[in-house]
Amino acid sequence: MTELPQEAVLEAEVRRRLRPDRFAHVQGVVATADALARRWGVDVRRARIAAWLHDVAKDEPPETLLKRAREFDIVFDEITAREPALWHSVIGAEIARREFGIRDKEVLAAIRYHTTGRPGMSGLEQIVFLADLIEPGRRFDGVEELRRQSREDLTEAVLAAFNGVICHVIRQGGLLHPDAVAARNDILLRRS
Ligand code: FE
Ligand code: FE
Repeated sequence: MTELPQEAVLEAEVRRRLRPDRFAHVQGVVATADALARRWGVDVRRARIAAWLHDVAKDEPPETLLKRAREFDIVFDEITAREPALWHSVIGAEIARREFGIRDKEVLAAIRYHTTGRPGMSGLEQIVFLADLIEPGRRFDGVEELRRQSREDLTEAVLAAFNGVICHVIRQGGLLHPDAVAARNDILLRRS
C-alpha cells in the first residue's frame, strides 16, 4: 500500500484553493462518498481522499489550467480540448499526484474520471462519480431517486446517473465525451 496524506492537511489545502461555495460542495462529496463506501464495502479512507481532491483544480481559471496542461505534458483529446468544464478533472488528478504525493492508481483514476466516467469503473470510481452528483447541496429533478438508488444498487444508480447526465448534455446541445458513452454502454453490456 502506498501512503496517503493526512486528511486534516488535505482539507486545509483544498479549502485554501477553492471558493467557499465550492469547498462546501467538496465537503458534501466527502460525506456522501464516505457513506457510500461504508454501504458498498469500499475503502473509506481512499474514497474520502479522492472526494477531497476531485475538484482541487476546479476554481483555477481556464488559462491557468491550459498552462498546467502544458507544464504536465498533458494533451487533451479533441472533445476535452473543446470543453473547459472537463479540464479540471484531468489536471486535478495530476495535481493530486505531483503536489499531494498520491500514488494510489484507483484514487487518481477516481479524480481523473469523475466528470466523464469510463468503461470498467472500480467501486471507488463509481462512488466518487455518484457522490459528486448527489451530495446534499445538489438540487435537480430526480436527485432524490438517485440518492435512493445509490443505497439499493450502486451500478444501477451509476447507470441512471449516466442516463441523466448524457440526456442533459444532449438537451444543452453540448459535445458528449466518448468516455461517458462507453461507460454507460459498459454497464449495459455487463449487467446481468
Ligand atoms: Fe468536478
Ligand atoms: Fe465536484
